[in-house]
Amino acid sequence: DGTLAETDPEVHAAVAAELGRQRGSLEMIASENFAPLAVMQAQGSVLTNKYAEGYPGRRYYGGCEHVDVIEQLAIDRVTALFGADYANVQPHSGAQANAAAMAALLNPGDTVLGLDLAHGGHLTHGMRLNFSGRLYDVAAYHVSAEDHRVDMAEVERLARERRPKLIIAGWSAYPRQLDFAEFRRIADAVGAYLMVDMAHFAGLVATGLHPSPVPYADIVTSTTHKTLGGPRGGIILARAEHAKKLNSQVFPGQQGGPLEHVIAAKAVAFKLAGEPAFAERQQRTLEGARIVAERLVTEPGVGVVSGGTDVHLVLVDLRDSELDGKQAEDRLHRVGITVNRNAVPFDPRPPMVSSGVRIGTPALAARGFGAEDFTEVADIIARALRPAAGDAELDELAARVAVLADRHPLYPELTA
Ligand code: PLP
Repeated sequence: DGTLAETDPEVHAAVAAELGRQRGSLEMIASENFAPLAVMQAQGSVLTNKYAEGYPGRRYYGGCEHVDVIEQLAIDRVTALFGADYANVQPHSGAQANAAAMAALLNPGDTVLGLDLAHGGHLTHGMRLNFSGRLYDVAAYHVSAEDHRVDMAEVERLARERRPKLIIAGWSAYPRQLDFAEFRRIADAVGAYLMVDMAHFAGLVATGLHPSPVPYADIVTSTTHKTLGGPRGGIILARAEHAKKLNSQVFPGQQGGPLEHVIAAKAVAFKLAGEPAFAERQQRTLEGARIVAERLVTEPGVGVVSGGTDVHLVLVDLRDSELDGKQAEDRLHRVGITVNRNAVPFDPRPPMVSSGVRIGTPALAARGFGAEDFTEVADIIARALRPAAGDAELDELAARVAVLADRHPLYPELTA
């Protein structure tokens, strides 16, 4: 049995190259983060060998005494972190958490009301090709053209017209906070369940920097790898009355054996999320996003959706720019900043091109970036998005990116 480098030089080389890419560039994809070493160590442990269908104390396999301890730690920590009655830490991903949560509340054909993908919603909130759009009857709400905030009057109107069994609040590309109390009021008015998908902002909720949906929602789902900074995976939190249905819809409903190595890594991440250093990092995350938004709105031809941000991301509006979203993404890549192009609300360009880029600060905050660094990052982005910027200027910006990357070494302990 050899090491990865000995056994599989091709995979090893690509992993080493990816470490180099993460170190040498500025990661600003809003849904990404850098998992701490302890998280990666748990995820790379012998727990990957273990079958453990079932739940702690009620497994369908022998030898689960240690994974039971681990899964119970993850459950206890995440319920304490978010003040929830119930948690399921087994969903392999955010999408599977949503699939299980919706299966627990709905039957195929039931009506769901969610935020339109083109206005910042997620695929699992009702997109046509996704399980959510295929299994359920979907109605979509939008943001308003005036202020780019979720149009709560439309949510209420659609709720009354379509009588959904479930309303989903949550987003993948939306720079503001949602009014959970208002969603609850509307859900109650039409007898709907309320599910909040806090995948993007869970780290902010954990540290009190964003209102918590837990007191308002029947079910709260999340990923663990975005602002929360843990391993790639999903969780479900809920009121106690939904516990039984949720447990059975995750396993055996959606999944077989849980990934106990990932669950161990989730447990570590939940522990870290309760520590002061994590709160301080979330504060820098928010501050960084604010700095980027404030700099970009001053740039001619560049807008910021909703005029600013309350969260960890900025949605850059390039509808008035010569550059489209794809060109902007490529420009930023050229100078060493990784983002994704993203449709903006009322986007005239097709989704593959789009008129926006989504820029997030969680990964750089994890790397130690503070206000001064983010001010420099914001200026680099603003200059790179000038349509007239030529090769010489882009080279200069790339050199400034390299200085920032060197100032904040990533995973110095790792060799590959
Ligand atoms: N929910 C929201 C709001 C998301 O933004 C995402 C990921 O982008 C997901 C769910 C899905 O998570 P995963 O990619 O782990 O399936």
